[in-house]
Amino acid sequence: MKVTEHINKANGKTLFSFELLPPNKGETIESIYNAIDPLMEFNPPFIEVTYHREDYTYVERPDGLLEKKVTRKRPGTLGISAAIQHKYGVDAIPHVLCGGFTKEETEDLLIDLNFIGIDNIVALRGDAMSSETYFKPEKGGHAYASELVEQINSMNQGIYLDSGLESPGATDFCIGVAGYPEKHMEAPSLDHDLKMLKAKVDKGAHYIITQMFFDNQKYFEFVDKCKSAGINVPIIPGLKPISTKRQLNLLPHRFHVDLPGDLVSAVETCDDNKAVYEVGVEWCIQQSKELMQAGVPILHYYTMSRPKNIKEIAKALF
Ligand code: FAD
Repeated sequence: MKVTEHINKANGKTLFSFELLPPNKGETIESIYNAIDPLMEFNPPFIEVTYHREDYTYVERPDGLLEKKVTRKRPGTLGISAAIQHKYGVDAIPHVLCGGFTKEETEDLLIDLNFIGIDNIVALRGDAMSSETYFKPEKGGHAYASELVEQINSMNQGIYLDSGLESPGATDFCIGVAGYPEKHMEAPSLDHDLKMLKAKVDKGAHYIITQMFFDNQKYFEFVDKCKSAGINVPIIPGLKPISTKRQLNLLPHRFHVDLPGDLVSAVETCDDNKAVYEVGVEWCIQQSKELMQAGVPILHYYTMSRPKNIKEIAKALF
């Protein structure tokens, strides 16, 4: 079922959903089930599975020269999505990236996703490879998520890249895209970023899922600005509980988000990460409660495949 249908069916009740990372290469599917099982009692209508693009590593050869190797640390998004739908009967939502894909490869992936019964996709550009400063599209690939949305939307109308197909079947994907309450790091301004977000919606995105934020005011202002910009699709808040002291620097560095002063002070006074974990859970519960009261359609949690704190938060709310 589509995310938009889940929202309509809930009739104003806030739903619980979460995101998983595929395990590191070599780990078994059991690690994914172990991350899902504790959260199933909260009836997630869907589970998102992130996509991890390939990266370069350098391996020293016996002759001392460095060999450049392309590896993917966390493969398996498609297989995990199929396994989730099969085992739990819950909608799996794979993330699909522009980075690393030609348009043809994207088309083939979309055909696979359609064949395994996927109804929803989150369409993303992806970040630059770790060896590069700026994102570089694949030759013959998409430079922006809006172009990927356009391709998926075309397939939803039975339009494939290959125009010589005899009777091409239309897919029916519901398309999610990313939104940034505190602006995407590369955008010159929030207003500019909102224009680009509107382009994704105009090209066919059905819902927005936000980057994590720790101050609800940022989300409420973002929703208001989206409405003023003519963006009228559901905007699902994404939340992550802080769990270590190190994240005070790591989260702003990696995700370009601000941490409110009260949260920073509370974490700084903690003696150890056990205490930080408790602060993070409590902060996230309070954030979730306020968002719920404001009538958000879904509370979406970034689990990083570690469900313990998300379970504590969900228990307090659902
Ligand atoms: P876009 O919407 O393409 O925007 C990228 C930048 O380009 C923005 O600054 C935007 O303002 C600008 N822009 C867009 N269109 C234009 C245009 N036409 N002209 C000029 N500028 C333009 N990454 C992964 O690798 N795997 C994942 O599974 C993953 N999941 C994510 C889930 C969520 C909910 C979020 C918020 C992010 C996720 N990311 C993931 C990270 C994401 O890939 C990065 O944030 C990436 O840098 C931007 O992706 P995007 O889809 O928002 O890009």
